Amino acid sequence: MPETTDVAIVGAGIVGCSAALELAAAGLRVTVFEEKGPGAGATRAAAGILSSQSDAEGPGPLLALGLAARETYPQLTEELRSETGIDVGYRTRGTIVLALDSGDEAELEHRYEWQSMAGLPVERLPAGRIHVLEPQVNRAVRQGLLFPLDHQLDNILLIQALSALAGARGVTFRLGRRVEAVEESGGRVAGLRLAGERVRAGQVVIAAGCWSGQIQGLPEKIPVMPVRGQMLALDPDATIIEHVLFHSGRYLVPRWNGRLLVGSTLERAGFDATVTAGGIGRLISHALDIVPGLKDARIREAWAGLRPGTEDGLPIIGRSSLSGLFYATGLFRSGILLGPLTGKLIAQLLLHGRASHSLQPFDPLRFTPASR
Ligand SMILES: Cc1cc2nc3c(=O)[nH]c(=O)nc-3n(C[C@H](O)[C@H](O)[C@H](O)COP(=O)(O)OP(=O)(O)OC[C@H]3O[C@@H](n4cnc5c(N)ncnc54)[C@H](O)[C@@H]3O)c2cc1C
Repeated sequence: MPETTDVAIVGAGIVGCSAALELAAAGLRVTVFEEKGPGAGATRAAAGILSSQSDAEGPGPLLALGLAARETYPQLTEELRSETGIDVGYRTRGTIVLALDSGDEAELEHRYEWQSMAGLPVERLPAGRIHVLEPQVNRAVRQGLLFPLDHQLDNILLIQALSALAGARGVTFRLGRRVEAVEESGGRVAGLRLAGERVRAGQVVIAAGCWSGQIQGLPEKIPVMPVRGQMLALDPDATIIEHVLFHSGRYLVPRWNGRLLVGSTLERAGFDATVTAGGIGRLISHALDIVPGLKDARIREAWAGLRPGTEDGLPIIGRSSLSGLFYATGLFRSGILLGPLTGKLIAQLLLHGRASHSLQPFDPLRFTPASR
């Protein structure tokens, strides 16, 4: 007899684990199939910045989703701490974006204008104020913006806590199991095919990050592409910065344990998660431009991960054209921020047929010709 479950989820990244948690809390039997281990994809590789505003390019559905996602974090981190005993290192100092030349200044001014017009919390920082807040920042810095609500956490602890809580709520994790295909029967989803095994499922959620489009049997093309990000962890002798610092799309993140993360590259390298000399060289050079005093910091480790990118930069969250099959992927650079809320919304859609936040802009069927 094939194994049977109410909901089968493909992928135990932040999205799959978050969805599993919500669905199990609603009383469903949930099984998560994961090729490697919880968070083994982009989730463990990330920097853990919850940058709803500091990374936003303009008003729109992604900003709205990011702001809603940010609001869920205080309660989520507290719930994880009380129910699993894991403190996920949620640090609430905010994020500073720095300008080092006139081009940066114009960009910051534009961002300040549209965000303050939209009523979002953002504060101009003259150079003198930056040096009070962050004395180690390069003296050449001209100005900055403080985003006081863009916080950060330790994404590795977060996925440990989410998967632990999901397990405690009865979710079954089938680790080391690669899903080959989605199967259908009679016009609706029937389950999954794995090597040497078939699993029957009433509903299926594809949360396999940048690998989502590789699963066979999907009723439409899911254009998720891997975008490589290389990262570096440094061990400074003492606390060298307090805030997350952004400049030119790169960032420094001071962790709860004294480590300093430097990220990240944005590369189209296929499914190749190699760490390269060129990538790490650029990160080191960037880190020293921002905080010259890091020159003696020890290099602790380097790694790379594959972000799930999409053609239009928007996530893919919603129903497929096959009854009972759902997608929750394409969170690109913001999956740590958006993952828990995405899990909640896809669970609502599956359970109640509608979600508490509009998912229309993220409709998976927007890429199919008929819906254009
Ligand atoms: C270097 C880097 C830095 C980042 N920094 C940040 C940040 O600071 N803030 C932020 O919000 N976001 C950040 N991100 C983005 C964020 O990490 C991702 O958007 C998010 O982790 C995506 O989560 P996911 O669950 O969709 O995918 P993943 O975490 O990739 O999980 C997908 C899982 O599916 C499994 N899988 C794949 N195919 C199959 C299959 N066929 N069968 C079974 N299992 C399968 C994989 O093994 C994997 O575990 C960063 C990403 C990178 C790479």
